[in-house]
Amino acid sequence: MQIIHIAAECYPAAKVGGLGDVVGALAKYLNLAGHHGRVILPKYHTKYIINNEWQEIFANTALLGVGAFDYKIYTDTSNKLGYELYLVDIPGLLNREQVYGYEDDSTRFIAFQTAAIDWIIKAELAPDLINVHDHHAALIPFMIQNCHDFMALKECPVVLTIHNGQYQGTMEWSNNVMIPKWDSWKWGLLDWNGFINPLASGIRCAWKVTTVSNGYLQELRFQSNGLEKLFELEWHKCSGILNGIDTIVWNPEEDQALTKTFSAKNVSKEKLHNKKTLCDQFNLDINKPLFVFIGRLVGEKAADLLPQSFINAFHKIGRKMNFLILGSGQTEIENELNYLKFFSQNDYNTYIGYNEDLSHLMYAGADFILMPSRVEPCGLNQLYALRYGTIPVVNNTGGLHDTVVDISEPNGYGIKMSNASENEIILSIYRAIELYADNTRMEQIKKQIMKLDYSWTKSINNYISLYQSLGIKN
Ligand code: ADP
Repeated sequence: MQIIHIAAECYPAAKVGGLGDVVGALAKYLNLAGHHGRVILPKYHTKYIINNEWQEIFANTALLGVGAFDYKIYTDTSNKLGYELYLVDIPGLLNREQVYGYEDDSTRFIAFQTAAIDWIIKAELAPDLINVHDHHAALIPFMIQNCHDFMALKECPVVLTIHNGQYQGTMEWSNNVMIPKWDSWKWGLLDWNGFINPLASGIRCAWKVTTVSNGYLQELRFQSNGLEKLFELEWHKCSGILNGIDTIVWNPEEDQALTKTFSAKNVSKEKLHNKKTLCDQFNLDINKPLFVFIGRLVGEKAADLLPQSFINAFHKIGRKMNFLILGSGQTEIENELNYLKFFSQNDYNTYIGYNEDLSHLMYAGADFILMPSRVEPCGLNQLYALRYGTIPVVNNTGGLHDTVVDISEPNGYGIKMSNASENEIILSIYRAIELYADNTRMEQIKKQIMKLDYSWTKSINNYISLYQSLGIKN
């Protein structure tokens, strides 16, 4: 099968969160399974894109409203990614340092989608299927079925994968002129509540819709930021496929970011070297359990609850544990987490920013990973943590519900909160400290979780079956 993925993120070229990890891994593991997976991504000005060699393979001009734009397609020359990565260069629009967050994001991503489809047609790539990801690429199902210039792809099956349904790319109707020529009586396929809603349009027009866990799929029906009715209408074509992890990139036996690599066999001894590096670097006490949080500092992740929860946990439980935070996001949360550093007694620290290597070391060196998320479509952090022998302490929602079993249950290996609240966070920290005191159980769980299989090698088959259910055979 020839599958093209179109997305706004793809590791290692551009990653903000889980979307990037998943898109790169999907294409790579499709290839490993004997298919042909490729990715089309905007050519941003990220470190990886600047520091690597790219070869121009195509150039054209496309229409955008009353104007036009030039675009070029570049490809990776290194062959080291395990899949073909194509970058769409649109000077002035896409070549920026950040992936998102600009006022003209609607224009940027309409232009990206237009160029991607224009190129697929002009270069006669003739994919068996196109898999688009999240709202940044979710106008493509509408475009290939309704834009006059894109009719060559009208019969091409297209799957929409929703990594996060909270973000929908909603824009004013005045933006409709930027979409290449279509029959205006089809406006209903773009509209949701008086706005153009790319995610809603994708859900309507895609042949199949997937989300990144079954737990999250069930939640979307009742809580999807205004799209509940739409999910009810289109439920027949929706399914949940749990993400996997790229066990080639996330491999504690070979990970270059670690002080000491380790496996399930020697985890008891060698994991500690990584904890020591973290404790030395961040002034923490190696004799106490180390809780880490890694991620976007936003309400979805319940990061706003962390500062007060830490204060109360120290107050109620005592200074029996360390906390180390890695993340960036809302300024108030960043400031509050930074402020707490002044009260540290060698048991608290925060690193504000994005740091891939540090995240690997933290998965390896921590005893527990905290994820009190209010919303977690799949969650990759808990899966990386499991692979690195770190016990997940999570809210029982979305993909966390599907992948973590509480220690109170048979063969349980994690700690689950019943909701995202300060009290539940403190209670689960207390339970984790009790577990930490039981050395035999801790060591048994570390070995057990490192052997769990949440790899793409397993999950990719669910995508392949879904593609085959659309009649694609080869
Ligand atoms: P989301 O996509 O909602 O942000 P996921 O759990 O699906 O959450 O994926 C988060 C990914 O981003 C993980 O690979 C995590 O390690 C990484 N990550 C998030 N914040 C940072 C950061 N500040 N530094 C390094 N990696 C980060």
